[in-house]
Amino acid sequence: MVKYLLKCKECNQYGLNNSENNSKCSNCGGQLLNPRPPKYSPIDKYGKYRRDYFKEDFKKRFEQN
Ligand SMILES: [Zn+2]
Repeated sequence: MVKYLLKCKECNQYGLNNSENNSKCSNCGGQLLNPRPPKYSPIDKYGKYRRDYFKEDFKKRFEQN
């Protein structure tokens, strides 16, 4: 199971590309776009945020299932 982290072009929130939200931003409903791959930039300033996001997301899914 592979999830892709996408970024909203309207509000710059991060979201996951999945069939549930149909690649729509959960915050404003805007279109989610694929940001540049992290390795494109030597400094990934959102790395920590992204890890925290996934950690929370996986935790929620774990508790729901
Ligand atoms: Zn948005």
